[in-house]
Amino acid sequence: MSTALIVVDVQNDFCEAGSLPVTGGNAVAGAITTHAAETTYDVIATTRDWHIDPGAHFADGEPDFVETWPVHCAADTPGAAFHSDLALPRVDVAVSKGAHEAAYSGFEGVTDDGTTLADALRAAGVEQVTVVGLATDHCVRATALDAVANGFTTEVRLDLTAAVMAETCATALIELADAGVALVGSLPTGTAGASA
Ligand SMILES: [Zn+2]
Repeated sequence: MSTALIVVDVQNDFCEAGSLPVTGGNAVAGAITTHAAETTYDVIATTRDWHIDPGAHFADGEPDFVETWPVHCAADTPGAAFHSDLALPRVDVAVSKGAHEAAYSGFEGVTDDGTTLADALRAAGVEQVTVVGLATDHCVRATALDAVANGFTTEVRLDLTAAVMAETCATALIELADAGVALVGSLPTGTAGASA
């Protein structure tokens, strides 16, 4: 069975020094690098938030950190670049999402030539995907749910994710399990959503 690793939004703005930092983001970047070096995947895919004018996705006033957010991952800024601790053996498919609207799922993204993530994975014969990255309760959640909806056998490696908030993370884990996503491992100690 062909497998893919989908690395979700490991970008500077979602890590500790960024504008929308997720506690544990830096460590997740390094942990994914280690995992990708130690594990064989047929396809390695990356997603990135790449905002030009995403409308109400950027808060007008105080963000609620559920549906509205501080400005983050503006296209062609350092905040939108991948974290420097993320080093993958290769990248076979790279999609960008959210240019003109909120886009939490990597399956809403397209490659530079306009291919969707689902089409790229199918073209490579992928049947099973492992989803990792940032953040557990938003873009990892949405990407994994869409992976299932697109017919892929899907797992989330929770130890290679970090969440924005414990409450939304708890809800996300229930939704993922209900959708048939295999949840492997547990969130890193000290991150939102890690069991006490
Ligand atoms: Zn965004």
